[in-house]
Amino acid sequence: MFQQRTNSSLSSIETFVFDGRTFYVKRDDLIDPYLSGNKYRKLYTLINTPSENIRKIISYGGTQSNAMLAIAALCRSKGWIFEYFTKSLHVKENQASNYSQALNLGMVHRELSDELYRDFIASLSVNLEEKTFILHQGGADQSARLGVEVLAKEIRESCLHAKCPLNVRSLATPSGTGTTALYLALALPEYKIYTTPSVGDKSYLLEQMAALEKVPQNLIILESEKKYHFAKPYKEFLDLHVRLKSAGIEFDLIYAPKIWKMLLEQTDEEILYIHSGGTTGNASMMERYKYKGLVSL
Ligand SMILES: *Cc1c(COP(=O)(O)O)cnc(C)c1O
Repeated sequence: MFQQRTNSSLSSIETFVFDGRTFYVKRDDLIDPYLSGNKYRKLYTLINTPSENIRKIISYGGTQSNAMLAIAALCRSKGWIFEYFTKSLHVKENQASNYSQALNLGMVHRELSDELYRDFIASLSVNLEEKTFILHQGGADQSARLGVEVLAKEIRESCLHAKCPLNVRSLATPSGTGTTALYLALALPEYKIYTTPSVGDKSYLLEQMAALEKVPQNLIILESEKKYHFAKPYKEFLDLHVRLKSAGIEFDLIYAPKIWKMLLEQTDEEILYIHSGGTTGNASMMERYKYKGLVSL
């Protein structure tokens, strides 16, 4: 297997043969067990912030969020307090879940009633204590840009180095908020960047991206005819996930299956896939597949 890791790169690029096609995968999932994938890239600025500059990080969102676990790992390593707000949810205490792992890393979970949640989140930035930093859901803000630019630089450099097989002109990575794909497309105008919406449809994704920056021409949003709901189990996603894993790489069960499906159906060139991490959530997602009777393994 081709492996290449320049000194300045945080992750290697591997050849990945799947369905008779050659792909390359940038293994950002291997950067760190918890703080990996695009969450590492998006938290890059905070990772490089001296620990004494911050006392507490506040964030909010879902209890299975990959970002939540990444922030918990970051705060643990920095000695920062991590306060995480969610709506009141009936959390199943699955030992392998992102939620229980984040608690183990010291996350302070605060539940809000559904009625209070919106207003509370909106009021977070008011009367902020000193050395307290708010990270908005999904990390969709300008502070994510620098880390994604570092990723872009690594990709560009890998492709300049002699042994690199990458005469590849197309990259792919899945979108939630679209922050990663957008900043990547802006930083690498010489590449085509494929992505897919995971939450809502193409117009919703474009709206979220446009709130950050003008969406460039080289960003291509692939859409499926079938409408998929975020983080719901679908048999075809599980099947694809299992086939990808058998081919040698485990991807996350929420974002990755859809974009792989689109890439296989709608593209035919060699593509460098940026692994976005998130495999820590697979155990609890697999439980949901089992619960739905979709696992026949
Ligand atoms: C968070 C996440 C995404 C979405 O990233 P955005 O920058 O919000 O588009 C994609 N894949 C995985 C595995 C994630 O955890």
